[in-house]
Amino acid sequence: MNKSFILKPKLKDYEPIIGRSALEELKALADKLSGKRILNINSTYIGGGVAEILARMVPFMNELGIDARWSVIKGDNEFFNITKKFHNALHGKKEEFKDNEFEYFLEVNRRNSQELDLLSDIIFIHDPQPVALIQKRGHTGQKWLWRCHIDISNPDEKIWNFIKNYVEKYDAAVFSAPNFAKMLNIRMFLIYPSIDPLSNKNRELSREQINAVLDKYGIDKKKPIILQVSRFDYLKDPVGVIKAFEMVRKNMPCQLILAGGTATDDPESDKVLAEVKEVAWKNPDIHILLLPPDSDIEINALQRAATVIIQKSLKEGFGLTVTEALWKGKPVVASAVGGILLQIKHKITGLLCHSVEGAAYAIKTLLTNPEYAKRLGENGHAHVRQNFLITRHLKDYLLLFLCQYYKEELIYL
Ligand code: UDP
Repeated sequence: MNKSFILKPKLKDYEPIIGRSALEELKALADKLSGKRILNINSTYIGGGVAEILARMVPFMNELGIDARWSVIKGDNEFFNITKKFHNALHGKKEEFKDNEFEYFLEVNRRNSQELDLLSDIIFIHDPQPVALIQKRGHTGQKWLWRCHIDISNPDEKIWNFIKNYVEKYDAAVFSAPNFAKMLNIRMFLIYPSIDPLSNKNRELSREQINAVLDKYGIDKKKPIILQVSRFDYLKDPVGVIKAFEMVRKNMPCQLILAGGTATDDPESDKVLAEVKEVAWKNPDIHILLLPPDSDIEINALQRAATVIIQKSLKEGFGLTVTEALWKGKPVVASAVGGILLQIKHKITGLLCHSVEGAAYAIKTLLTNPEYAKRLGENGHAHVRQNFLITRHLKDYLLLFLCQYYKEELIYL
């Protein structure tokens, strides 16, 4: 399949989606930052949501006339094994640490702080890996901001206390959702995640492209499709989705697609997948699609082909799959957990559920009321356009930077 597209959209490409005034607003904010140098630092140029967002944000800022740059810290396998354990422990997983691992983490940060060109007005550090670069902070009036992209609401306390020691040396910390954050004694900002409407995952696709993906996976084009896209993880409750589907399937013809990958860093995912296959194997209307990484167009096509999209998570971070589904104007049934509550306003932008039976009832409601389903989908699309697109994310970053100079005073554009 041809995956080529405008690889690097320009801001003007977003005008048909967000309107000219939103672009003018970005320009006005950017002008206020004229002369300021902004340096983003994370730990990789490729792979993962943070790198993906930076790969868009930095060129957007440059396009707006801002001197924004992006550097990464250098580390070896030992360093990244340690930071992976930090990551898991910050998510609440029990991990064993040796004292020399903390020392090595600091040593690599120290080495990077000597090698990196840190001449900038704002140093914007992403996630825990480079957090200790702050030790290089001098008395230059530089602003140091820490952007936390992960959920640290329930961390292993030992690791969090270690990281917090550095975080509280920053001018401010930025979290992605209220339920991801920890109280700190520095200024705190809330900036929601976003999706890029022009990425392969979300851009418009032709009917032929969608059909090609359905054919590739042997999906019946005539039967209504219920879809959940998720890693095979207990917290996404794939078995609960199958149970809800089977309740619906008793009364009306439809098919279920569970699409997702297993993560190499999650040993449990193979077990979950095996369990799902065991529950589903007798039912020819259930399609379990194991997607390789980089299946953005396939996911996009499946979401666009779906009649109803479900996200029956038992716990959820922000829930980007819900954002993606709403953006495609789909009626969504999703559990009332985590960031889903910011996205689904019950009976307005989708339907919330609290159980297998509730999910089945909501799916039936949508399948039997296409007009209602369509209205929810349209509202959902508008809600995402207003709140969860990358251009809003960019605006929040510009405001965040400006706030460092204007403190509590109002900013007049
Ligand atoms: N996703 C993917 N491949 C998969 C499963 C999910 O690319 O096999 C994408 C999905 O489209 C979404 C993201 O990964 O963009 C998952 O984000 P979400 O916040 O929904 O859940 P998480 O996996 O972070 O818990």
